[in-house]
Amino acid sequence: MNIKVNLEKNSYEVSVNELKKLEFKGKVAVVSNAKIAGLHLQSLLSRLKADEVFIITLKDGEQYKNLQSIEELLNQLFISKLDRKSTLIAFGGGVISDIVGFGASIYQRGIDFINIPTTLLAMVDAAVGGKTGVNNAFGKNLIGSFYQPRAVYCESEFLKTLPQRELSAGMAEFIKMAITFDEKKLEFIEKLDENAFFDKSLDDVIYAQIIFESVKLKADIVSKDEKENDLRMLLNYGHTFAHVIENQTQYKTFLHGEAVAIGINMANQLALKLGFLSEVECKKVEKLLHKFKLPTYYKIKDSNEFYEAFFLDKKSLNAKLHFILPQGLGRAVIKNDIKKELILEVLTDFTKGRA
Ligand code: NAD
Repeated sequence: MNIKVNLEKNSYEVSVNELKKLEFKGKVAVVSNAKIAGLHLQSLLSRLKADEVFIITLKDGEQYKNLQSIEELLNQLFISKLDRKSTLIAFGGGVISDIVGFGASIYQRGIDFINIPTTLLAMVDAAVGGKTGVNNAFGKNLIGSFYQPRAVYCESEFLKTLPQRELSAGMAEFIKMAITFDEKKLEFIEKLDENAFFDKSLDDVIYAQIIFESVKLKADIVSKDEKENDLRMLLNYGHTFAHVIENQTQYKTFLHGEAVAIGINMANQLALKLGFLSEVECKKVEKLLHKFKLPTYYKIKDSNEFYEAFFLDKKSLNAKLHFILPQGLGRAVIKNDIKKELILEVLTDFTKGRA
């Protein structure tokens, strides 16, 4: 199964379960971390042919998605004497693909890279679309570039070793895309058998279907709006809230996808107050998130403090808060004129504990 991301000279294919052989003329550096390399590197190397292959392992974790890791990566590339005809292979989750993509975009003014994602989140979302970058003290993904991979290979076999929470986190990003763009995809997700989803001993057809459906949607959006001028912004649904939650919990309590799931619920509560979503629709989404064992609640300590933290997010440039909100299921809008009192009302509801 192949899906094309259509970007004129930067177009590329995303393949699902098609990786038989990978051949390169120049040098190749496979960039991963020790955990993933321990589990799956041999399987990748058995399919890889190049003049020379280097293995670079970075530290594992969102806290290492920073400029230090970029410097470490670039140093390793210089030590291995990679040149402008060389290729980087990002072999890992979204953290690895974000770091490697950014590294590739600045190493000697840009060299080729390909993504071979190993988490569901990276397969359904992060590895496709060319948003690359790292975090810094001011927030998440604040340093980076738009830089497209030459190809993406999603292999569902790698998901067999992925912990349940990580699988769930991947579903959060797919659910996000379905709510903002495509009601039919939401129906597809509703019909998925969660027992088959969580039972990794079964064959992995279900993952291949999920990856294919999600990538089709993401590829279409990226093809229409590569640089996030309008349409692609809608994919940040839930993220305005999620980034604050991740920041307040120092990236330790929730996985990114889990924070997104809570963010989706928070955004929906705001949409409900504005009359964009009905109570029934809100409940339906919450139920779907729970079906995939995702959290939907975070106890906010101080709603004013939470509100102020929104302004650290890069999506609030010019001191204007932008919220992506669903308008019915399968469609979303960007709102930048919501009254502070209304936002605080929603945040205050989340200070009270669950009913
Ligand atoms: P991650 O890369 O940290 O991976 C999660 C954990 O799973 C890590 O510990 C990793 O070592 C481990 N792992 C990876 N593959 C494994 C496997 N096959 N078996 C067992 N363990 C495995 O997290 P993630 O959820 O993949 O990605 C989150 C990141 O992606 C965030 O930094 C987020 O900002 C970014 N992101 C980027 C985009 C984009 O468009 N660029 C989109 C969504 C998310």
